Amino acid sequence: MIPRNTRSRGYFLQPWELSTLEDAEGHLQRLDFQPFQLQNLVNGALVPHPHNNWIDSVNPKTGLRFACIPNSSPEQVHAAVSAAEAAFPTWSATLPSLRSEYLQRIASRIEEQRELFAAWESIDQGKTLSRARVEIDRAVANFRYFATYILHQETRARWTDTNILTYEHRSPKGVFALIAPWNMPLCSLTGKIAPCLAFGCTAVAKPSELTSMTAYLLSTVFRDVDLPPGVINLVYGAGDPTGSALVRHPRVKGISFTGSTATGRQIRRDTVDDIGKYLSLELSGKNPTIVFDDVDVDKAVVTAAKAAFENQGEICLCGSRIYVQRRLWSEFVCRFVSYVREHYVLGNKVGAVVSLDHYNKIRSYLTLAAEDPISVFHLGSIPPENPECGFWIEPAVLTVSESSPLLTDEIFGPVVTLTPFDTEEEAVQKANGSAYGLASILLTKDGARMRRVGEKLDAGLVWINCWLAKEMGASFGGISVSGTGGDSSREVYTSGRTLHIPQF
Ligand code: NAD
Repeated sequence: MIPRNTRSRGYFLQPWELSTLEDAEGHLQRLDFQPFQLQNLVNGALVPHPHNNWIDSVNPKTGLRFACIPNSSPEQVHAAVSAAEAAFPTWSATLPSLRSEYLQRIASRIEEQRELFAAWESIDQGKTLSRARVEIDRAVANFRYFATYILHQETRARWTDTNILTYEHRSPKGVFALIAPWNMPLCSLTGKIAPCLAFGCTAVAKPSELTSMTAYLLSTVFRDVDLPPGVINLVYGAGDPTGSALVRHPRVKGISFTGSTATGRQIRRDTVDDIGKYLSLELSGKNPTIVFDDVDVDKAVVTAAKAAFENQGEICLCGSRIYVQRRLWSEFVCRFVSYVREHYVLGNKVGAVVSLDHYNKIRSYLTLAAEDPISVFHLGSIPPENPECGFWIEPAVLTVSESSPLLTDEIFGPVVTLTPFDTEEEAVQKANGSAYGLASILLTKDGARMRRVGEKLDAGLVWINCWLAKEMGASFGGISVSGTGGDSSREVYTSGRTLHIPQF
C-alpha cells in the first residue's frame, strides 16, 4: 500500500515500490537513480525535512550511497515528543484488547510485506537476505508476543502478618525515547516499540543513522493500520543532535537504549539530574563460549560457529571468545575451522560489515593480531586497506596471546579467538576475565556442571547448549558495563505502586 500524499512519479520511486531484492538492487544500479530521502513520522504524518542537513546512507555491499537521512534538529525532536505526549492520555487509557488488536494488525502488515522489509534490511545493513528474513520474522514475533501477553497479565499479591491485602498495580510510565543500534535494525527497534505500545506508553523512536530504512518502511505500516496519531513517532538522525536532544528532553519519562557502552555512559551523564527518568541500557559485550571435553563435538562446533559468525559477528550476543578444554583442543580446532570454512562463506552466509569505519576498525584488530608473533591465523586474513567494492571481511579464527586486546575489546565483526583451558575453575576465571557481562555460552553434557558453572558466570544471559533463545517476557540484558539488565519489558514500561487494603 502506498502512503497517502506520497505517490511516486517517474523514476522517483519510494522504497516500498520495490519489493524484492532483485527489483531494489536493479533500481539502485540505474544511471538516473536518485537517493531516497527519508521523512520523519510525527503525529501520524510523514514530514518533509525542512533543513539542508542530511546524512548519507550507504549500501555496505557496494559502498555506494542510496538514501539520505534527515539529521533531525532538537526542534524536530521536540515536535515529536509533544505529539507523543498529547497521545498518551488516550492511548494509556485504552483497553489492552484494543492495543492488542493494533499490534496484531501491525504484525500482519509486516508479515505481508516480509520480502520488502528483508530486501531493504539486507541493502541497508549488509546482511544476507536469508539472515534479514529471520530478523523480519523476529520483528513480527515481537508484536505478536506482546499483543497476547497483555491479555493475560498477573500481579503480585501478599497478605501482611496483620491480614492486610497488598497488591501491585502497574501503569504505563509515559513518553519513551526508543533508541536502537545498526546491527539488527528492525528487530531491535520493534523489540522496543512492541512492548512500549502494548503496555500503554507512547514513544519517539530513533533508529541508527546507519540503518534507518526499515524504520521508514515501518512508518508506512503504522499509517496503514490507522494507529492513532502521535502514539509512535519516528525521527532520524545522528546521536548528536537527534539522539541527544531526545534523551535530554524533560517530557521523556523513560529511555530504552541499545548501543555501545560509551553512548550508554553519555546518556547516563546527560540525564543525571532528571532523577525520575527511567533508563534501560542494553550495551556492548565480549561474550565467552566455553566448550568442555564431554560435548558432542559435531553439535558444539555448529553452536559455537553460529554464535560467532551469525550476521557477520555483528550481534552483541555473539560468542567471540571460545575457550576449549585441552583434551578436545586439537580435534575441536580442526573441526571448527573446517566447518566455518565450508559453511560461513563470504557473500553467501556472511554479509558485508555495516560501514567503512567499522570495516577499518575490524581490520585494525586483524592487523594487530598479525603483528603479534604469538598469534595464529587458523582462518582468515587482513582485508585490503581501501576496499574497491563494499566492506567485505572473511571470517577469521585466531589464537592470540593472553594479553591481546582481541581477547578484551568488543570487535563486533567476523573475528573469533580460540583459547585452551584445563580445569573448570580456569574456564570460569577466563570467561569472567572481561569488563563486560552481557552473555555467556556454556557447552557441556554434564548436568551438574550446567548449574555449577552456569551460576558462576558473570553475565545477564547464560545459554547452555543453545544460543540466542529468548523468552520475551523474561528479564533481558547485561550486567556490569554491559548495561542495566534485570528488568522485564513490563517493568521497563510500567511503574508499580503497592496498594494496602485492610479487611473490612
Ligand atoms: P552507538 O552507541 O554508537 O549508537 C546506538 C544508537 O545511539 C544510535 O541510534 C545512535 O545514533 C544513538 N546515539 C549515539 N549517541 C547518542 C547520544 N549521545 N544520545 C542518544 N543517542 C545516541 O552503537 P552502535 O555502534 O550503533 O551499535 C553497536 C553497539 O551496540 C555495540 O557495542 C553492540 O554491542 C551494542 N549492542 C548491544 C545490544 C544489547 O542488547 N546489549 C544489542 C545490539 C547492539
